Amino acid sequence: MIQGKNAIVTGSTSGIGLGIAESLAQAGANVMINGFGDAGAIEAGRARLEREHGVTVRYSPADMTEPDEIAGMVEATREAFGSVDVLVNNAGIQHVASVETFPPEKWDAIIAINLSSAFHGIRAVIPGMKERGFGRIINVASAHALVASPYKSAYVAAKHGVAGLTKTVALEVAEEGITVNAIAPGYVLTPLVEEQIPKTAEARGISEDEVRRDVLLAAQPTKRFVTVEQIGELAVYLCGEGAASITGTVLPMDGGWTAQ
Ligand code: NAD
Repeated sequence: MIQGKNAIVTGSTSGIGLGIAESLAQAGANVMINGFGDAGAIEAGRARLEREHGVTVRYSPADMTEPDEIAGMVEATREAFGSVDVLVNNAGIQHVASVETFPPEKWDAIIAINLSSAFHGIRAVIPGMKERGFGRIINVASAHALVASPYKSAYVAAKHGVAGLTKTVALEVAEEGITVNAIAPGYVLTPLVEEQIPKTAEARGISEDEVRRDVLLAAQPTKRFVTVEQIGELAVYLCGEGAASITGTVLPMDGGWTAQ
């Protein structure tokens, strides 16, 4: 089903986005990757995906805080591949601080990258998906789309927003062959999580080991981090015909975290 389809994965130079891009490429989709990082490393990663999976992989440097650049990325993908059949809104950042010390510019950046970029991407891809009567939109939310944790006001607000956006757009396009879902992962050991360990330790006045054990994995009954491969497999499944009736959902993949 996904073979020969064309996908965009935002924030796919690292972590979960890279894992999803890899899974989609492995399943036979052409992929527009996106995100920041060292230019040589990004090009090496792009070339590796093409070589190992026999698909076309392009790179867009679009900044997810810039609506015009998001529209440009969608247009560049159409020009390169002919269509955008799958949009994965994954780019995201985090900042950990109490609400009264939370820097307003960090709030704005998190809302822009983690929430508004999905809106801008979605509005740009929907017309083409409607024309072709097929589309898959996957928003990478978080367990924090369903429950909160202290010191993450902007992130939790953005992810709850992603859940609402997912449901709303799913209803609007339900008869058009387009599904819209969110994946809500628990903790995955990516650079985003690695970076917040020292900051959470400082905010809570505990050691980094205690953050891993008592804060991160304490939330996950499996006591295991979720993997990018597991999330990639779910994304591929959501792109298939078997998932055509799954829409408007926020699917936890969180080791039981939000069952509690
Ligand atoms: P990561 O830091 O490894 O990757 C983030 C990606 O987003 C990178 O490719 C980065 O370059 C890109 N990015 C950041 N700002 C951008 C911008 N302005 N424009 C374009 N790209 C930008 O993080 P990750 O852990 O892989 O997170 C990916 C997504 O998964 C995020 O939305 C995050 O909230 C979500 N998530 C992560 C976890 C986790 O435990 N790691 C859990 C639940 C949800």
